[in-house]
Amino acid sequence: MRAARIFDDLSLRVDEAPAPAPGPGEVLVRIQAAGVCGTDLHILDGMIKPDPYPMTIGHEAAGVVEAAGEGAALSPGDRVAVYNKIFCGWCEQCLAGRPNVCDREFRQLGFNTDGGDAEYVAVPERNLVPVPEPVDFATAAVLTCAGMTAVHATKLSGLRLGATAVVNGIGGVGILVVQAARAAGARVIAVADSAEKRDLALSHGAADGVIIAEGQDYATLPAAVRELTAGRGADVFFELVGTTETMTAGVRCLAKGGTFVATGYTDQPLNVHPIEFILSETSLVSTVAATRQDLEDALRMAASGAMTVPIAGRYPLDGVQGALDALRKRAVLGRQILDLG
Ligand SMILES: [Zn+2]
Ligand SMILES: [Zn+2]
Repeated sequence: MRAARIFDDLSLRVDEAPAPAPGPGEVLVRIQAAGVCGTDLHILDGMIKPDPYPMTIGHEAAGVVEAAGEGAALSPGDRVAVYNKIFCGWCEQCLAGRPNVCDREFRQLGFNTDGGDAEYVAVPERNLVPVPEPVDFATAAVLTCAGMTAVHATKLSGLRLGATAVVNGIGGVGILVVQAARAAGARVIAVADSAEKRDLALSHGAADGVIIAEGQDYATLPAAVRELTAGRGADVFFELVGTTETMTAGVRCLAKGGTFVATGYTDQPLNVHPIEFILSETSLVSTVAATRQDLEDALRMAASGAMTVPIAGRYPLDGVQGALDALRKRAVLGRQILDLG
């Protein structure tokens, strides 16, 4: 089969690779669409290391069941989204509904084991979630990372009806956090680095937008947020950029009793004195990816029209490098996908 693989010299090549053979309890999926995510850049840069190289990249995939083993509930032809975190299903965390932090399984598709930027992928059947009919494969693929992450972060944020949420970073995840927070009953303020991204957020449910242009100081953000909230600040600040500067500004945007939600990977430290949290009884919540349930919920939201994924571009599998280059330039409005159907 054709696959986009990363090698130990960090080169990315689209070439022939052995098709996966599904083991016991596994299902072979023929990929129809795969999302191109900012996290893929961390793998290209060597910050996240596959074990072993070479590895098929891609952790956002949807397709149809090609072959299912004996006793499987799914049948060939079923439309499925691939939950990318492999989980054991019976450790304390899995049984508590947190397969994303499973104690016994550390494999994650496209992070450290073969992923979905390929014609086929083999996964445990419990990693597959049926895709409801009105949801297309491109949308389903993006929901397996960005969408479920947005749902998870919104649930853990404890957003209440009538609260104000700030979403900092209108990328592939941020535009979906805007919609999830809105659906949870919040008034949403989007913080974007361009007028195009701000307008995208406004057209997807944000009530207000603040632009922090390149070179502008994030230290101006807390005052801007207070101006939009009658001096009160934000009940929840979703941080999706992840620099020390943006995280510090985020904590300072909070209303008393507010919650700072750290989502996504960063290599920079959070450098805030605890007294800034203590005196206003604010909280820090962190989230990593999402649960299988969050993926089901994201798909249901998409089916009902409560969550739409702006598709920024469609590429063939051979165009994956071009899609990643555009992402690195931060020149993408919404999410790019690889069309394998
Ligand atoms: Zn992703
Ligand atoms: Zn487990």
